[in-house]
Amino acid sequence: MEEIMKVGVLTSGGDAPGMNAAIRAVVRAGLHRNMEVYGIRRGYQGMIDGDIIKLDSVSVSGIIHQGGTILQTARCKEFTTYEGRKKAYENLCAFGINAVIVIGGDGSFTGAGIMSKEFNIPFIGIPGTIDNDLYGTDYTIGFDTALNTVVNAVDKIRDTASSHGRIFFVEVMGKEAGFVALQSGIACGAEGILIPEEKGQIEKLMNYLTIRAKQKKSSIIMVAEGEDEGGAISIANKIKERFPEYDIRTTILGHIQRGGTPSALDRICASRMGVAAIEALIDDQKSIMIGMVNNEVVHVPLNKTVKLDKDVDRDLLGIADMLV
Ligand code: ATP
Repeated sequence: MEEIMKVGVLTSGGDAPGMNAAIRAVVRAGLHRNMEVYGIRRGYQGMIDGDIIKLDSVSVSGIIHQGGTILQTARCKEFTTYEGRKKAYENLCAFGINAVIVIGGDGSFTGAGIMSKEFNIPFIGIPGTIDNDLYGTDYTIGFDTALNTVVNAVDKIRDTASSHGRIFFVEVMGKEAGFVALQSGIACGAEGILIPEEKGQIEKLMNYLTIRAKQKKSSIIMVAEGEDEGGAISIANKIKERFPEYDIRTTILGHIQRGGTPSALDRICASRMGVAAIEALIDDQKSIMIGMVNNEVVHVPLNKTVKLDKDVDRDLLGIADMLV
């Protein structure tokens, strides 16, 4: 008799809206394929602690529209050690779990790749991070919702900026990646976009402030938190010194970007990826990430997605510059 596949699912690293839709898809597609599905709580920490529960179809009812993750998430230092991963493996064995689906970002996939090799257990990654910074996929779960949250917030800031004739520096998430800043900047008609991937944007901003800003009612400058100048507050202070004639304000959007009802795109993307992860296990895949390229599901080796950097769309940068 063929062994029943017992699949563990966990969310790890930063939470992202749409993770619940992915958990739901994994559970329901797994059950559809006669697997048993186990939820591992608090990411790798729960794997080490044995915080594992069996999930059925009803346990994922009514969650598709909820932000956050019902399994909770964590960052777990112990998992970066062999001893920690061995404990985790022993717990998987105790539950008979013979494959794991990890919903998270590149740190989570690094850990997944290592453990998969050490203990010869298949790990499938589903990209879940608002940063959209994973190589091998056009979309990561949560990015679209975060983008819309930023756009809604900046539209409101624009109203007050125009009324008072102000320049607003708006800082958005992205310690190493400018996807949120770039795409929200275009969507909001930002007058400047500062991201870690592109040098020379500050000079363009100076040129803009020297002439064009004076002709406008307001200006919005989108700043990714990992930008070279040290974030929105630091840049705004430098600009205030150089251009004391401007009324300059700063807003850091912070954690509102992570929460909220997932967008339709994130829910659909998460549902497709969850089903694809189960299908990948059926096809004997190991150590891969499910990606989405040109709206098609793709398989990307985990080691490739963690080693290679995804670049921002350079055409979008050109468009942003042209439309100021
Ligand atoms: P986000 O992009 O939202 O930050 P992430 O998955 O990159 O998500 P991290 O905090 O980098 O988030 O990683 C999540 C967890 O993955 C870590 O807390 C740790 O348990 C595990 N991990 C990260 N790097 C390694 C590594 N080199 N070896 C083993 N495990 C790792």
